[in-house]
Amino acid sequence: MKQEIRDVAAPADAEERRSKPPVVVYPNETLPPSGLNILQAARQSMTKVDEIIVPPREAGGFRVPKGHFFRIVGREGPQVGDLNLWNADDLSERFFSGKTRALHATHVGVGDRLWSNLPYLRPMATITHDTLGWYGWDNDGAGVHDVIGTRCDPYTNRLLKGNDYHHCCHSNLSRALASATGIPVRDAEMHVHDVLNVFMCTGFTRDTHQYFMKASPVRPGDFIEFFAEIDLLGAISACPGGDCGSGHSSDAAPCYPLGIEIWRPDPTSLAGRNFPEPNAYPRTHGL
Ligand SMILES: [Zn+2]
Repeated sequence: MKQEIRDVAAPADAEERRSKPPVVVYPNETLPPSGLNILQAARQSMTKVDEIIVPPREAGGFRVPKGHFFRIVGREGPQVGDLNLWNADDLSERFFSGKTRALHATHVGVGDRLWSNLPYLRPMATITHDTLGWYGWDNDGAGVHDVIGTRCDPYTNRLLKGNDYHHCCHSNLSRALASATGIPVRDAEMHVHDVLNVFMCTGFTRDTHQYFMKASPVRPGDFIEFFAEIDLLGAISACPGGDCGSGHSSDAAPCYPLGIEIWRPDPTSLAGRNFPEPNAYPRTHGL
């Protein structure tokens, strides 16, 4: 389709039109401060209070009280995780991958926040540590922890391959949410949303701008750590793509477990830090 567009004769001022300077859509200097310095101090006092192991090609649910930290930890081998987050008291508030991407970048790191959907639009979690923070951008333009991809799912798999695979991240997350809440899996599925691709190494090809993946640099012991800004219900799927260096949506790739750790800091270390309320826009929409 793009080729047909290129076949259209360019106007005489094409280069001038192309040479306009890019403008960042959402300059984020005016966001409420993340208070990262307080969190960095608080994490010095924290102790591990719970740990869950998510088997390969499965998802696990977990709860994190507001004011606690949680880590997603690589174990045994390179493994990508697909993360969903909900308000623990209200499933209608959930992680908003698209706006997180618009406010921060295609890939997130320390100091970035995971924002909730409209009309809430508040930080659900703040990233406080990332042992893959050294990776940066590689020669293919790839980085880790993207908010581009959606999650592997059995519908796209049916569309592209014509067969059914039941351990895609979408199905794993649906079963995990059903198990965590007691709601039927078909109802749970409706709450599953676009993910944070934890440890996944992705970018866009330079020639066709297609979404690509390459083998994750994560190794056992690596982790990404978050501070819970509200009471959270989370679920993470150990993607059937494993390190996502070849394929997904099948049993072909080697897959490994993921760890989820819940850490509690000394509450006095958070004194003076405000927890975010839902967005203050009155929802009148001009009426
Ligand atoms: Zn997946």
